[in-house]
Amino acid sequence: MNYKSTNNKSEIVNFDQAVVKGLADDKGLFFPLEIPRLPDSFFENLKTMKLSEIAFQFLKPYVGNVLTEKEIADILNDALNFEIPLVKVAENVYSLELFHGPTHAFKDVGARVMARFLAKFSGKNKKVTVLVATSGDTGSAVASGFLDVEGVEVVVLYPKGMVSTIQEKQFTTLGKNITALEISGTFDDCQRMVKEAFMDKELSEKMNLSSANSINVARFLPQAVYYFYAFAQLKDTHKPVVFSVPSGNYGNLTAGLFAKQSGLPIDKFIASSNINNVVPKYIETGNFEPTASVQTISNAMDVGNPSNFARILEIYNHSWSEITKNIEAYTFSDHDTRKTMREVFEENNYILDPHGAVAYCGLRTYMQKHDVVGIFLETAHPAKFFETVEESIPIKVKIPDNLQESLKREKLSIQMNNSFDELKHFLLNTFVNSELTKV
Ligand SMILES: *Cc1c(COP(=O)(O)O)cnc(C)c1O
Repeated sequence: MNYKSTNNKSEIVNFDQAVVKGLADDKGLFFPLEIPRLPDSFFENLKTMKLSEIAFQFLKPYVGNVLTEKEIADILNDALNFEIPLVKVAENVYSLELFHGPTHAFKDVGARVMARFLAKFSGKNKKVTVLVATSGDTGSAVASGFLDVEGVEVVVLYPKGMVSTIQEKQFTTLGKNITALEISGTFDDCQRMVKEAFMDKELSEKMNLSSANSINVARFLPQAVYYFYAFAQLKDTHKPVVFSVPSGNYGNLTAGLFAKQSGLPIDKFIASSNINNVVPKYIETGNFEPTASVQTISNAMDVGNPSNFARILEIYNHSWSEITKNIEAYTFSDHDTRKTMREVFEENNYILDPHGAVAYCGLRTYMQKHDVVGIFLETAHPAKFFETVEESIPIKVKIPDNLQESLKREKLSIQMNNSFDELKHFLLNTFVNSELTKV
């Protein structure tokens, strides 16, 4: 498969180049030249297929011939070694639990696959430095996915005081090839600093920079796989199937749109948003107006300028009416989120995390008017946000052992202002000048 830039001003690249570069030279996002339709036989066999088989069939055309089929299959078997169960919560309502990976958030799916591809593509003597901005979960998933991967350094930028205790401990205590930068600023500042680093001539000459945000094709494409896998697990139904996706940077939802374009009969996507509602406003008015992000209890969705929106426009040829045919969008407050966590616990005995709760709110709103089967994506384990969950529901959340472990470890982050110059200075000193003095 070849990839172009969503800005259409860069060269066409292969999968390996798209993965290593992260972002196109014209600052656009890489986008495949086509979205292949999967064959009928794939859909006929779907109910009997394993997650890794679905992943292989879906991803093979996107990787193309830069790797052998065996190499692709090995990467996917190794990366997707955890369950993604579809759990019934109420009549016609299902939770797709994406949090059974090592860091207990859905970002494990993309990050683990991407780390393995990148390790294959990074040359033996050309070290790759992965820069990643996180609003919480990306940092831990990427850090865990890349820990000890040879030839790759990871630098995580996160907004000071805006991620949960467990989240912070998960990616600031690992050491080795993982460096955490605690930025005095917002997630948007972190994201902007990363983007500026990619645009900087000197950095791109001296370093092999890559991105592990969902702007990277190797991170967002694997997320399409679990939409198929949800269908595989669904008992036969004659009702239309909709997905509610708790959205921030819209990588997860965009991956779902790819699944639909490949032939999966998804009736509608519900973009469930917290008050950072740039996309719901676009759906309502046709105007896309990025703003500063506002802090909420579903902090992984506190995004004021969702980067994957460019890919959504590309899928539908910039047609607002096509987009609104496929995506319905709602905005919910923290109050709504907490209320829903409480109600679902009382009525269905199911513990939602704040992000899953936003998705549940969206699904419930939609289902009041439509007779469908609804699947919401439960993107994080409630223990990752136990403070918020325990404020909302009268229970004690059980914390998985490996999260318990990371809480005990010492935080190793480096403080930094929300300034690109400081970041640049740090990167050159740490990864370029230190390499020079070694020789
Ligand atoms: C990142 C994240 C989201 C938002 O996903 P996007 O792909 O950025 O829209 C939702 N929930 C959780 C728990 C996350 O970590």
